[in-house]
Amino acid sequence: MATGDMYDVVIVGGGPGGLSAAIYAMRAALKTVLIEKAVPGGQINLSDSVENYPGFTHIGGAELSMRFAEHARSYGLTEINEEVAAIEPGLEHHTVRLAGGRALAAHAVILATGGTPRKLKVPGEDALYGKGVSYCAVCDGFFFRGKQVIVVGGGDSACEEGLYLAKLAEKVYLVHRRDALRASMILQQRVAAECKMEVLWNSVVAEIKESNGGVSGVRLRDTRNGQERDMPIDGIFIFIGFDPNSQLIPAGVRRNVDGFVLTDDQCSTAIPGIYAVGDLRERYARQIVLAAADGCMAALSAAHYVEGRKAKDAVSCELPAGL
Ligand code: NAP
Repeated sequence: MATGDMYDVVIVGGGPGGLSAAIYAMRAALKTVLIEKAVPGGQINLSDSVENYPGFTHIGGAELSMRFAEHARSYGLTEINEEVAAIEPGLEHHTVRLAGGRALAAHAVILATGGTPRKLKVPGEDALYGKGVSYCAVCDGFFFRGKQVIVVGGGDSACEEGLYLAKLAEKVYLVHRRDALRASMILQQRVAAECKMEVLWNSVVAEIKESNGGVSGVRLRDTRNGQERDMPIDGIFIFIGFDPNSQLIPAGVRRNVDGFVLTDDQCSTAIPGIYAVGDLRERYARQIVLAAADGCMAALSAAHYVEGRKAKDAVSCELPAGL
């Protein structure tokens, strides 16, 4: 492998966790590359408004990600805009293979690949995706101005996105499977105060119906008695959590039953020199500030690890042959 392709740290994923790791790794003078297949920022690019990142009472998700990226770039960060095909752990170094065929060697790899919105897995969902079924209010809300939509879920995402949609749509029904929301109290209060929003409690979407190539309604099921009813609707926005993007996680990295990576409090996985940060990790809450904190922790821990590796390599170089 060419020496130019040997890095101290390879960061896979350019969301808040990856970019924060890049900032700390660059400041620790580690030879660092960040690989991101799309645009920097990850999921937060889809957030209309972020109100809980310290220092910003209100900032757009795309703007916040741009600020993270600019901060990391200010230290001369190397970035590769390509998909990663595989991560192969090794004893001497780890190898990160890019889809284009190039291989990068690294003492440490920081996995920051985030998660993907979870699907309802009901009839009509896949066929009507992009035709009234959406997982991003900021991306698609514009098409539902003056219309009636359903938001599915009872967490922070469902409430936040529902509130965003209420600015555009005529009516937003929040469909939740229980009789209490999971979302933070401030969001619950805002939903209750938003006259364009109405919560349909103890309800799930059993089917999404189509007419003229688009969503025309849903079949709702009451979770208490199983009774079903049809409801006409123009669009459905689904926010029922998400799954980790764990396709690249090498065998040997321990995960929980849902696929989230298990780490110690330094974000170290079960493989020395491989770290996981942000939404990929098993954790109590998923927040931008937590992903950023993970990035910091993983980079500081990686710096210590890389220093140890280099010291070990230097000693073995100095030893007489045969020892
Ligand atoms: P979440 O907190 O896991 O909530 C998912 C919601 O969807 C829950 O209410 C759940 O119901 C419901 N649900 C799950 N599977 C379902 C199914 N098959 N059918 C119907 N309903 C289903 O996910 P999230 O809202 O995406 O939030 C993820 C994390 O990001 C959380 O830690 C959250 O705090 C954080 N977040 C924070 C902010 C913010 O602070 N600004 C914004 C967005 C997200 P149950 O309640 O019955 O389980």
